[in-house]
Amino acid sequence: MAGTLYVVPTPIGHLGDMTERARAVLAQVDFIAAEDTRVTLKLLNHMGVKKPLVSYYEHNRRESGARIAARVAAGETAALVTDAGTPAISDPGEDLVALCAGQGIAVVALPGPCALVTALAVSGLPAGRFCFEGFLAMNKKSRRAHLAALRAETRTMIFYEAPHKLPHTLADLLEALGDRRAAVCRELTKRHEEVWRTTLHEAAAHYAEHAPRGEFVLVVEGRPDTPPPSPSLASAVEQAKEELSGGVSLRDAARRAAERTGLSRSAVYAALVKDERADGR
Ligand code: SAM
Repeated sequence: MAGTLYVVPTPIGHLGDMTERARAVLAQVDFIAAEDTRVTLKLLNHMGVKKPLVSYYEHNRRESGARIAARVAAGETAALVTDAGTPAISDPGEDLVALCAGQGIAVVALPGPCALVTALAVSGLPAGRFCFEGFLAMNKKSRRAHLAALRAETRTMIFYEAPHKLPHTLADLLEALGDRRAAVCRELTKRHEEVWRTTLHEAAAHYAEHAPRGEFVLVVEGRPDTPPPSPSLASAVEQAKEELSGGVSLRDAARRAAERTGLSRSAVYAALVKDERADGR
């Protein structure tokens, strides 16, 4: 009978975040597949657990994954762990899970530490609907396409980033999305944990001057559901209001401002009426 693959989260900093169930599973399985066996060995030593380790990481995931799946299919139980957090979330694991699941092997995931959830929970930004965007690609074309696809995103967005790439990423996010509220979450659950609830503009300006240190998650506000009028429409409304103060009708004021700005008369009229109503006129 086939065994089971357990997906076991490990702490993202604070060792106290290892759950009782995760400890018990690591102590019970036949072997552990680890991203970096040295990192996992330290954790096991800390817990007083001795267990055979096999390496499963980005560059050996095909061959090692096939060997692990074959052992589990033959009846062994295995735990999959990565260096920190939940395996398969922006680290090796999703392929092994897919491979085992595809072969009808039981896969059981334990809940536990995950940097994106911790950052979202502490961000102060809307958490009802969110999307996880992982790391932005370094390849220029894919990066540009990814950023362009996010412009209309209304959900709160979560990004992982390496410290040396953070300034570049903040500048790109600012350019692509405009200024937004953002939470820069650094070294979560660790001694130097810091959560800076700020804006993309301020964060980009700060990290252009100060080299980031540690691990970061960025949480960025989504686009407002009703986008503010475009700058050109807002300026057309301002021009129309000046006309109004000169005593012309709403329709004429909108028509003149539309002619001057090249915008549609109906769009300027509708925005002007809305603005006047909001002003209580
Ligand atoms: N699987 C992990 C998880 O569940 O969060 C993520 C692994 S991914 C390779 C590593 C990235 O997660 C880091 O570059 C950083 O963006 C984020 N991260 C991990 N630990 C963190 C921490 N303690 N504080 C802030 N960000 C962290």
